[in-house]
Amino acid sequence: MLNLSQSAYASLRQHGEETYPHECCGVLLGRFDDNGSQSVSKTVSRIARCGNTRADSPHNRYSIDPRELIRIQREGRVRGEDIVGFYHSHPDHPAQWSSTDLAEAHWFGCSYVITSVEKGKAVLTNSFELTGSDEADKKFVDEKSEVV
Ligand SMILES: [Zn+2]
Repeated sequence: MLNLSQSAYASLRQHGEETYPHECCGVLLGRFDDNGSQSVSKTVSRIARCGNTRADSPHNRYSIDPRELIRIQREGRVRGEDIVGFYHSHPDHPAQWSSTDLAEAHWFGCSYVITSVEKGKAVLTNSFELTGSDEADKKFVDEKSEVV
């Protein structure tokens, strides 16, 4: 379960419209809510926009500079926020993960949010949780998301 603040939700969708026809990408910051049950829900309080470093294929690939990621993580910790996921956009493609998305996802338990942007307008926003214990058995599971 992924809870997104209204502003985080609006902001990540707007980011996809701004970078169209290229993919946008960024980090979801917030907290893991351990409610004692099997599934841990997440609450996103803010997003951090990242530059897409995939200059070779920015319309259907994204990549976040590791140094930028470390800086975002450090700044989040100061505010008491964890990295709970990542987001990117799919220009003129469905809001479904691709095999490349799965191959390049490494943060287990985190949410991967994808927004389809059709002709410059954000349409669907879906969330997927990366589950599994290692690279060999990892997979994306559909995750319910709510704007709170
Ligand atoms: Zn993708």
